[in-house]
Amino acid sequence: MIIRTKKEKFKFKILEDTIKKKWVFFYFLILFSFFFIILSAEQSNVEVINSKYLYRFDGVLIPSYAQNGKFNTILILDSGIEKILIDKSELDIIDNVDFKLSFFVLPLNNKKSSITIVIQKKGKLLEYQIPVIEKDPYPKSEIILDNSKKEIVSSKNTEKREEESKFFNNLLNTKSNLRYFTLPFINPLEIMMIVSVFGNSRVYKDLNMNILYTSTHLGVDLKASENTKVYAISTARVAFAGYSITRGNCIYLDHGYGLYSSYFHLNKLNVKERQIVFAGDLIGYSGSTGISTGPHLHLGATFLGINLDPISLINEMNEIEENYSRIKINQSNK
Ligand SMILES: [Zn+2]
Repeated sequence: MIIRTKKEKFKFKILEDTIKKKWVFFYFLILFSFFFIILSAEQSNVEVINSKYLYRFDGVLIPSYAQNGKFNTILILDSGIEKILIDKSELDIIDNVDFKLSFFVLPLNNKKSSITIVIQKKGKLLEYQIPVIEKDPYPKSEIILDNSKKEIVSSKNTEKREEESKFFNNLLNTKSNLRYFTLPFINPLEIMMIVSVFGNSRVYKDLNMNILYTSTHLGVDLKASENTKVYAISTARVAFAGYSITRGNCIYLDHGYGLYSSYFHLNKLNVKERQIVFAGDLIGYSGSTGISTGPHLHLGATFLGINLDPISLINEMNEIEENYSRIKINQSNK
């Protein structure tokens, strides 16, 4: 009995010696319970809203994966969410009527196989890792330029082309901290038929089949005969409406927060720079100006200067409201 008491006293002394500062012990206790709460809550509240999204317990809807070159949205339902970070860079949180949203894009040449999404909610940091899928493996396409179009890419125009690409890069990296866009997004043509997808490699040749240059197609080509009506995909400020030697008559729309859409090879423009256009407004007529081998509409989109598949932008911006109503229905059924 006496020996046991001695042992107990001894043990207690060791404990006192090693944990001299009480807060260290409490810190670990709090940390342990915090992780336990996250793990158990996460497992019991994960809910699949559609094939891509998970509804998390902490009031955000994050994608279950991201694909290079595609548009991704995060839907925020909880007003306690203060910050969202993707691989340490903070995203803008944009107000909508019933919810808030954020978006992000990974470039086509991204090499990371996963990204970390950190949500700050009432001072707490919640972390999610989501896998990254490579761009779709599209086959190479060959484009043959006749002598008049070949002239545009000749060395005498190199300086002019470089000057233009610098100008448009600057424009697309200019972020308006204003929301112009409205939901849902609208198709730019009444009939949508994709003739060339986003992200495929292209080889440009002359009539003698000599290779002129290679490039990646950074937009989608939509079937459109000469003078087909072209509409704004969402509300925006006209950032550029004019002529470029490679893009032809073109329009760049600033939808706000770093998001732009672009319309190339137009025959006629129906808007002026700095004008506000609404979703579905007639902005121009299709054509074949610039480097183009026949009438069509080249539709482009960028976010913070990163090129993305404009079809994924339209689809995501339409699904976000659908996803929100699905959540509301799911919640009211519980
Ligand atoms: Zn194109």
